[in-house]
Amino acid sequence: MHPVLLPTCCVACGVVGPRLCGPCSRSLVPARPLPVPAGLDGCYALIDYAGTGRAVVSAVKFRHDRSLAAVLAPALARVLPSAEVARTPVITWCPTSGRRRRDRGYDQAEVLARAVGRSLGLPVHRLLRRGAGAPQTGRSAADRRRPLPLVARGRVPAQIVVVDDVCTTGATLEAAAAAVRGAGAARVIGLVLAATPPPRSAGRAQATSCASRQPLQAERA
Ligand SMILES: [Zn+2]
Repeated sequence: MHPVLLPTCCVACGVVGPRLCGPCSRSLVPARPLPVPAGLDGCYALIDYAGTGRAVVSAVKFRHDRSLAAVLAPALARVLPSAEVARTPVITWCPTSGRRRRDRGYDQAEVLARAVGRSLGLPVHRLLRRGAGAPQTGRSAADRRRPLPLVARGRVPAQIVVVDDVCTTGATLEAAAAAVRGAGAARVIGLVLAATPPPRSAGRAQATSCASRQPLQAERA
């Protein structure tokens, strides 16, 4: 795919140019503090899953937008505290269902995890697999709250960072944490592209939570 032959356009507004134009990039809302899902020791998100953030997630999730994932990965990598990066030997991801992966031809969480790994200079390994079950997309909120079958593939390191595209209820990260803890992990950190904003009334943020107040620098092509 040659960029000269195939001009790109913004995934949010459609204007020809970078995959995320300047105005849309600036309209992304940095993720606000959220409760840490059960079983995790920290959870960090880049943007709110709302407005332009939804368009960005949709492009990564449904359109296999590797170039956008590559643009976002450095910003996503920067929301991980340096202390966590220093003691993390490997990054993994929450795998989508086998059926979803076959339908789309890729796993968006893997695409993000590998891009983040490149940004941080850390290895990325497939340490989780998903058992049989319905895909997240299209399921009711109640269904999504149910733990999903995730299984560790062999032993995992004592600390691990688990990447996912979106944190809505936290159920997927909780299932991932339970799986890797049962396989040797003592400290589990979540890292997600976007998180559902908390209700306005839930202003009591935990210290180690899905949070990024850093300016987003994702408008490079
Ligand atoms: Zn735009």
